[in-house]
Amino acid sequence: MKKIQNYINGELVAPKSGQYLDNYNPAEGKVYSLIPDSDKEDVEVAVKAARAAFEGWSTMPAQKRSDILNKIADLIDKNHDRLAEAESIDNGKPLKLAQRVDIPRASSNMRFYATAILHFASESHNMDGEAVNYTTRTPMGVAGCISPWNLPLYLFTWKIAPALAAGNTVVAKPSEITPMTAYLFSELCIEAGLPKGVLNIVHGLGAKAGQSIIEHPDVPVISFTGGTATGKNIAATAAPMFKKLSLELGGKNPNIIFEDCDFDQALNTSIHSSFANQGQICLCGSRIFVQESIYEKFLNAFVEKVKALTVGDPLEDGTKVGAVVSEPHMQKIMSYIKLAQEEGGKVVAGGNRKKLEGRCADGYFLEPTIITGLNHQCRTNQEEIFGPVVTIMPFKEEQEVLDYANSTAYGLSATIWTENLKRAHRVAHQLKSGIIWVNCWLVRDLRTPFGGMKQSGVGREGGWEALRFFTEAKNICIKL
Ligand code: NAD
Repeated sequence: MKKIQNYINGELVAPKSGQYLDNYNPAEGKVYSLIPDSDKEDVEVAVKAARAAFEGWSTMPAQKRSDILNKIADLIDKNHDRLAEAESIDNGKPLKLAQRVDIPRASSNMRFYATAILHFASESHNMDGEAVNYTTRTPMGVAGCISPWNLPLYLFTWKIAPALAAGNTVVAKPSEITPMTAYLFSELCIEAGLPKGVLNIVHGLGAKAGQSIIEHPDVPVISFTGGTATGKNIAATAAPMFKKLSLELGGKNPNIIFEDCDFDQALNTSIHSSFANQGQICLCGSRIFVQESIYEKFLNAFVEKVKALTVGDPLEDGTKVGAVVSEPHMQKIMSYIKLAQEEGGKVVAGGNRKKLEGRCADGYFLEPTIITGLNHQCRTNQEEIFGPVVTIMPFKEEQEVLDYANSTAYGLSATIWTENLKRAHRVAHQLKSGIIWVNCWLVRDLRTPFGGMKQSGVGREGGWEALRFFTEAKNICIKL
């Protein structure tokens, strides 16, 4: 069986303990590879390698660093098909989605920061002739980057690309649930000639390998994407050590559909924003609010379309909904469907595990599920389910839907559907979310800040901000 290896000091190596964890193919419900069960000792070696590489990497001309990162991006493109298939097998997502979104976005993350660093500038402030201030921004040292399973290579590169471009070296840990593409990525780094120790990838459990990175005294900056509860733990460890911290966390995003929307566009995009990647995108709209006058029409059309979605083998062309990522995650989602019914909700589409034939007979497939009849305050509408489950609720007026939308502890993203320009701006300004899409969803400009408000995260990253995040500012004031 294939054994994934750690990538430390430029080499693919086994974990010190020799222990491995099972890695499942969720579409088959079977173990298909093994992943290092790394611990503190592996992290120690990785941090040491990253520290040793820092001097050379941080003083390397930006153009040279840029060339290497671009070379890695080229290799991602060259290996597009292989990486997309690996991601689909590891994660359960439809191959088509990995081909169209995950892998191209991984290479554009690398390219964006490879070129951004060439234009990165810091500021100078002249105080009316009395003094001049200039700010330097220098890399911080070894960055710790920890990523989740839902968009494995995409979110992994989203963290490491700005850290490396800014001149830091990195110790990274991908999710233990979907480690394969990060492993293949380490092979591409070797092929691209990335100097040894610049990027180190340690595989393993969050509480063990991840925690060892967070608490390591020689890792002064942490960029984390994952669940809110994990983020809270990480902050509790990192804050007393005065580490610089960026947390991109969970969401419970509203999708608000006004009566004056372009109905067909709202309907079709809502299918994607609800069920893309089996609803396992932090930006999915899991609470749909529809204005009363079009509620019945929307609900009927939505249910009909959702029932027609093909749940199937992720590797097959026609599949729209693949497997959810793991058995425990499937159980968690099913427990929320049960809870929704206990809270008075009515399942109007889906609601069950889907049994497939053949190779996928034991896979973790769920029917896309729609629930009506719940109020906005119940647990189903307050907690993140992170699966192919949405609720739909009617509303009468703007203020009412704003109250519903803003009622959760999260504030990651929101979608608004209206043809009324003034309303679009007005509602967008009042929503407490870090990202608002008007008449679209998941449209992404890498130059913009990315991240959530409230318990969806702190230390928003994106564009220049991410480069700044991974540097330390120093102001020098000169008397004229
Ligand atoms: P998770 O929090 O369970 O795990 C995320 C990563 O953290 C994994 O690599 C895990 O091994 C590691 N980890 C766990 N405990 C740790 C610890 N004590 N110390 C250090 N690392 C630790 O999240 P998940 O289940 O992998 O991902 C799903 C969650 O991620 C959802 O809540 C989703 O909304 C969120 N997410 C957020 C964004 C965003 O940009 N805001 C993007 C994608 C996913």
